[in-house]
Amino acid sequence: MGPRPIGVIASGADPERSLNDVKSLDLECCQLSMPESRWFGEPQLSAIREAQHQLGVEIVGFFCHFPGESYADIPTIQRTVGLVNPETRPQRLTTVLENSDLVARLGTPALLAHIGFIPEEREGRLYNEVVAAVKQICQRCAGNGQDFGLETGQETAPVLKQFILDVGADNLKVNFDPANMLLYGSGKPLEAIKIVEEYLISVHCKDGHWPTAPGKLGEEAPFGEGEVNVPAFLGYLRDIEFTGPLVIEREISGEEQRKDVIRARDLIRSLQ
Ligand code: MG
Repeated sequence: MGPRPIGVIASGADPERSLNDVKSLDLECCQLSMPESRWFGEPQLSAIREAQHQLGVEIVGFFCHFPGESYADIPTIQRTVGLVNPETRPQRLTTVLENSDLVARLGTPALLAHIGFIPEEREGRLYNEVVAAVKQICQRCAGNGQDFGLETGQETAPVLKQFILDVGADNLKVNFDPANMLLYGSGKPLEAIKIVEEYLISVHCKDGHWPTAPGKLGEEAPFGEGEVNVPAFLGYLRDIEFTGPLVIEREISGEEQRKDVIRARDLIRSLQ
């Protein structure tokens, strides 16, 4: 892969099929949602390794997800997403640690997650519990040769940076999603990325609009048609000599999604 390989987020339901889909989009890499554990038996792993090699498509990260998560609106996200809620945290922490061990069998360099809204009060018990949980995840990932990448957007970049410093793990990184900064009303993407750029391992090429009502998310848009300012965003990544993957994300499905991914790919190529 060249500098800033272009990829896409795809389903982990059938990794082999997803790798073929990625190839058919003429892309070089992908991030997959975490497959079911049956995909981590040795015959299945061999098939995935072989597909990556034959197709020239690399899986650059796996996204953890948890039963019961809902992105309906901001209060629901606060309650249901990630590792913040103490009621669901222990089980989910176990899941992430297991995911790290599974992914290690494939040698994939990153495990990724939305950990939820990082609490803003640094002195609070909840904040410290989330720091401890992520520290434990980073230790497991380090032992497995992986980075743990935090998806951005649910908090401001300064809060995210402080959190990373408080965890204090070398392999705690950022998967920067410029659209999420807008959708959650967390800050202007170009200002935010400057605050966390030293931790950047990958970016999502996604676009969107600011929220129009309190408690609501903004609306996602095809890449280049929202308020991210894509030329400036990609130009900045070039300026800082970022060499990680540019991963297209379009949260719709079917033929329309495929069309938007292809248009995003062509837009990125024209601006690289
Ligand atoms: Mg994203």
